[in-house]
Amino acid sequence: MSETNFIGGRWRGDADGEFKTVHSPIDGSAIGAMTWSSRGAATEAIAAARQAQAGWRKVSVWDRAKTMRRIGEAIAGRQAELAALLTLEQGKPYAEAFFEVGKSVDGFNLAADLVKYLEGNTIPTEDPGKRVMTFYRPRGVYAVVTPWNFPVNIPVEYIAPGLAAGNTIVWTPAPTTSLVAVALMRAIAEADLPPGVLNLVTGAGAVVGDEIVSNPGTDAVGFTGSAATGKQISLRAAGKPQLMELGGNGPVVILDDADLDRAARATASGCFVNAGQVCSSSERILVHRKVHDEFAERMAAEARGVVLGDPRKDGVTMGPLNNAGVAAKVASHVADAVRRGASPVIGGKPAGGHPSDLYFEPTVLTGVTREALINTEETFGPVAPLIVIDSDEQAFELAGDNRYGLVSSVFTQDIDRAFRYIEEMPTGIVNINDTSNYWELHIPFGGMSGKDSGTGRVGGRHALMAMCDLKTATFSVK
Ligand code: NAD
Repeated sequence: MSETNFIGGRWRGDADGEFKTVHSPIDGSAIGAMTWSSRGAATEAIAAARQAQAGWRKVSVWDRAKTMRRIGEAIAGRQAELAALLTLEQGKPYAEAFFEVGKSVDGFNLAADLVKYLEGNTIPTEDPGKRVMTFYRPRGVYAVVTPWNFPVNIPVEYIAPGLAAGNTIVWTPAPTTSLVAVALMRAIAEADLPPGVLNLVTGAGAVVGDEIVSNPGTDAVGFTGSAATGKQISLRAAGKPQLMELGGNGPVVILDDADLDRAARATASGCFVNAGQVCSSSERILVHRKVHDEFAERMAAEARGVVLGDPRKDGVTMGPLNNAGVAAKVASHVADAVRRGASPVIGGKPAGGHPSDLYFEPTVLTGVTREALINTEETFGPVAPLIVIDSDEQAFELAGDNRYGLVSSVFTQDIDRAFRYIEEMPTGIVNINDTSNYWELHIPFGGMSGKDSGTGRVGGRHALMAMCDLKTATFSVK
């Protein structure tokens, strides 16, 4: 079917776009086709969202909440089908895909609950003749651009609070996960959303993504993706409110008093879940010299336990990487680290014997140096790079000497030390004694100021507030 755009409540193709086959990362097989839309299709979607805006913002909050619940039910009714497509197109194991779709159901239900309690304030004034209050009002038409690593849940992190708050939306998904975006949109459309309230346009980020963020017809931007794209979007959308969730690069810190069993288990899951393609992955691991060798052995044992293969099969715990770009980056970062002195304890190269060349061995590297790209940049692959440290000061110094500041994890049994890390780590989130991937829907999530990991917070009421204007009303009374 050539219609992968949903504009003004109708499925549409794009005569000015191109229609191309989509391949699965699992084995390279053709699994469908998508439209690479033109700027014209994006502009039509913006017009549809604009037209729907006045009506949707006037729908009562309680009725919008009911619609969010209907959407949640529609997705829940297709959970297995969506999860199967997510696995086929993205490459993550089916159990991870099923969990992700379940979370997107929860996301709509959470937005339905929380929007009812999005209360403003009454504000005491210096002037006795004034009464002042604040209201949360929708911002208007949102441009939402999303990545391929969580292609169901990340869009919902914007769509659910955005719609619940009364915004209308034009959404562009990542090209390598557009089929699952179309399937998600079909489920959402079953919930009788008024035409134009949510519009989907598939295609290249540099075309449709650029159009929707920069066009004066959109009022605000929600973006999750790489820091490089985020910076471009910030410029193109200058002046619009921007909720930006960008890349991450840890670190995870294993201190000399850590419970090593717990630390290795949690860190390995931070390295290998979704084949390491998570913004909060355990991208670099700073290990105290006293426990380094034992920790490295435990990490190797964890890596040996990873079952790499066809992610549709029971028992497989890691599938292929999503696309050739990320596969090339992972291989080049590992080769660069080895060239600069690191040694693979296990893994270290693309895995042979699989039906596509996107499979990478679960890898543990020791002796990683601070100049290595795997330390300085986000790698986004199934690699655990270990860097030796001798002190807390060195951990802080290495943590700070990085352009990213999203999520860190620290393993220690000393509460004073834990609080020092909580207060001083240059990351938006600090997990004590758990995987860097620990996450729940309602918890504020985002990067630290001064870093390249984004601005603002998604998650529960934080996303709702971020996707609203705070309007101030003043009354003069006699
Ligand atoms: P990406 O930046 O390459 O693409 C993200 C989206 O932006 C895609 O839909 C793409 O088509 C679009 N895009 C590309 N160029 C554009 C342009 N010029 N204008 C507008 N849109 C454009 O990122 P990716 O490779 O899809 O995703 C991986 C990145 O996302 C990683 O860096 C990861 O850390 C980050 N991420 C962050 C979070 C978070 O919450 N902080 C969560 C998941 C992923």
